[in-house]
Amino acid sequence: MSKSMSKSLIAGANLTKTYGSKKNPIKALGPVSFEIQDGSFTVILGRSGSGKSTLLNLMAGLDKLTDGNLRVGEDDLTKINSIKLAKYRSKIGIIFQFYNLLPNLDTLENVMMGSWAGGKTGNKQEAVDLLTRFGLEHRIHSNVKTLSGGEKQRVAICRALVGGPEILFCDEPTGALDSVNEDQVKDILNDLNKKDGLTIVMVTHNPEFAELADTVIKMKDGAIQEFLVK
Ligand code: ADP
Repeated sequence: MSKSMSKSLIAGANLTKTYGSKKNPIKALGPVSFEIQDGSFTVILGRSGSGKSTLLNLMAGLDKLTDGNLRVGEDDLTKINSIKLAKYRSKIGIIFQFYNLLPNLDTLENVMMGSWAGGKTGNKQEAVDLLTRFGLEHRIHSNVKTLSGGEKQRVAICRALVGGPEILFCDEPTGALDSVNEDQVKDILNDLNKKDGLTIVMVTHNPEFAELADTVIKMKDGAIQEFLVK
């Protein structure tokens, strides 16, 4: 959907996540309420422990909320069962700081695995096309253990894109990269958003990403301190 026709793609209302036990609850998030638009590039900033990953994990279906409501597209994640949650995860892509590739498989096999958390499998031609788009065609049969950090993250991006996800969630995607590879990943994500229209939601420590973003969520102590739409 084009930006001019944008509607809220993700909506959280009084979203809360508490870890620990009933006796000793650890409040990680909330209650927070927010909306993220279809086609947007959202960056979640904040200090370590401010609840960024907790918020991302809830939206990406990697964790279940304690209270409140959360909707992503047509999916109501509020009281979702595990089977539906797995189905939901197959519609989205996720990348992580440390790539989470399967170490004994080659690049192509990793990409064909599809979403790390979703259990979807990709088709070979699609995987080859993605690897070629991101300059990894010469690495197709390399064991991923032999790749550089930047190459690994590009493989992880290809894997996340298999099947054409509706949203790409990124948790500190450049946190382990040097500045050259960081810029490369930044350009890729920017292109995916601006050219392909992919909705991106990213947790980062890096305020440079805030320049690419059209939506900035600043977190502090489990709360949304600032919600900026440019
Ligand atoms: P950030 O991503 O901003 O560094 P997190 O969302 O990881 O912050 O964590 C927010 C708070 O929730 C922190 O106080 C953290 O210690 C706590 N927390 C996160 N995950 C868990 C967990 N699985 N069990 C207990 N506490 C957790």
